[in-house]
Amino acid sequence: MAKTDTSRSRKATKAAATRSDKDTWAAAYKLIDAPKGAINIAYEAVDRHVQHGHGDDTAIIWLGKDGSRQDLTYGDLAQATARFSNVLLAHGLEPGDAVFSLMGRVPDLYFAALGTLKAGLVFTPLFSAFGPEPIRTRMEIGSARVLITTAQLYKRKIAAWRSELPSLKLVLIVGDTAPEGCVALGPAMANASPEFVTAKTEPDSPALVHFTSGTTGKPKGVVHVHNAVLYHAFSGREALDLTPGTIYWCTADPGWVTGTSYGIIAPLVNRVCMIVDEAEFDLDRWYRTVEQEKVEVWYSAPTAIRMMMRSDAKAASAYDFSSLRFLASVGEPLNPEAVLWSEQVFGQPFHDNWWQTETGGIMIANRPGMTVKPGSMGKAMPGIEAAIVERDGDGLRALADGKVGELALRPGWPSMMRAYLHEQARYDRCFEDGWYLSGDLAMRDTDGYFWFVGRADDLIKTSGHLVGPFEVESALIEHQAVAEAGVIGLPDETAGEIVKAYVTLNPGYTPSEELERDIRGHARKTLGPAVAPREVIFRNTLPKTRSGKIMRRLLKARELGLPEGDISTLETDET
Ligand code: ATP
Ligand code: MG
Repeated sequence: MAKTDTSRSRKATKAAATRSDKDTWAAAYKLIDAPKGAINIAYEAVDRHVQHGHGDDTAIIWLGKDGSRQDLTYGDLAQATARFSNVLLAHGLEPGDAVFSLMGRVPDLYFAALGTLKAGLVFTPLFSAFGPEPIRTRMEIGSARVLITTAQLYKRKIAAWRSELPSLKLVLIVGDTAPEGCVALGPAMANASPEFVTAKTEPDSPALVHFTSGTTGKPKGVVHVHNAVLYHAFSGREALDLTPGTIYWCTADPGWVTGTSYGIIAPLVNRVCMIVDEAEFDLDRWYRTVEQEKVEVWYSAPTAIRMMMRSDAKAASAYDFSSLRFLASVGEPLNPEAVLWSEQVFGQPFHDNWWQTETGGIMIANRPGMTVKPGSMGKAMPGIEAAIVERDGDGLRALADGKVGELALRPGWPSMMRAYLHEQARYDRCFEDGWYLSGDLAMRDTDGYFWFVGRADDLIKTSGHLVGPFEVESALIEHQAVAEAGVIGLPDETAGEIVKAYVTLNPGYTPSEELERDIRGHARKTLGPAVAPREVIFRNTLPKTRSGKIMRRLLKARELGLPEGDISTLETDET
């Protein structure tokens, strides 16, 4: 992109993008079967493979918390999802109706997600750990018609207010029995036909509503359409190296977008064999799973990677990781330290990539074969035009490489959001001058690699410097005692803001004044005195969203005694 004449650069880049978009999406269409004018995610992910003679290929290896295991083929999935679609229609539900799920990562969740899409209804998965209030708010916003959950979760979290949600017509309960007023899914599925003619959904038919993580404020309900499957097919292959038969493990829960886009759709569309683990993070279990299942491609998140890093490196040396061929990470900035650690332990780096609930798919990535620059999110995906921009009086100005500004994308890729539910004005504010504005600050280097700086709201202005929390956090976790760090700016009369850090420690270290001084000293050496934190506070945990993102706004609100705002996605934390 030209660096100074922005009016000319806008025209030039648009023309280039149009040409490459066309080629890219034409290539993506070749990956799927969709006839013109009709497309359905579930058909492309499941039934297409059966039609093409791959019904016996393994689609899912499910690992139960209790050590049980279930292998499901594409043929099994086609039948189970058809049964689920038939259950929905038997209860008078219609295309467009909203189906919510609230349960752990059990096979029924995957049948429900794909069965809903196959029948042309709209799916929203929720984290099973949400409390009653966040569940209720989301189901109200999404006008839920159906909920699929377990008897236990229903009793604990739904029963008390169910009658106050008149849109809710049907509650399906996993298993053979159901509380009064609900329907047991087991017998309903058993009695339903395993045949179903996929609904004739169109490219713009709504398919999924995902709620954002709530890192910066109240979660938004983001609407995605069936055409998104094109981008999932394409990006699964391009960014994650998913090909038929690949043994793939995405550790994300479908309660956030990664667990659906790349934990259900992209892998199945690419006919991989995917691992679904019902259990939560456990170091030995994870390492054992990689070894025993011979995982080839692993997609995880910085919070999990940092948990692995906390353990003794010896723990890893007991396992054979030779099956791994590609590792990727998303959700938060991946500290350079984590990339280097992964090279040591797994013999290859975690490849960071960047995207959002709104973009529906990976936009910026360290793709297979690319040189990884530790700390960088990688380059824009083929067909995706990304720029660093600044708002000025009369619109947006593209910034030169090396300058920090807002990360913007040229809309037009198939998995882009189509709406924020009931928040049209907010949706409209995301677009300006033909760009989608991400709300994240970043910098692009002259090789085209993007470097994350922070959320627009998290930038710290101290003594004339602009400081992104990520660079300070990354410097802190280089210190051998520090496991995780969250950095914020606090108002200060002389400096404007001062940098303050919260850290958790690695096993074997205990908080002390001396350690605090040592950590600050290390940060001063790495970052310089102006940017290094003035104060380092020790914590047992940092406040995080359920998708594993550090909630800096909460650290700041607590520090300043301000209201905490929406904390519906907060994991339990101690202060
Ligand atoms: P909310 O929008 O409700 O505040 P959220 O933005 O955290 O929550 P998500 O859509 O789940 O909700 O997360 C997308 C955001 O996560 C991105 O905008 C970015 O800030 C952060 N993110 C994702 N991947 C990366 C990455 N590789 N490096 C840095 N940040 C990332
Ligand atoms: Mg966001």
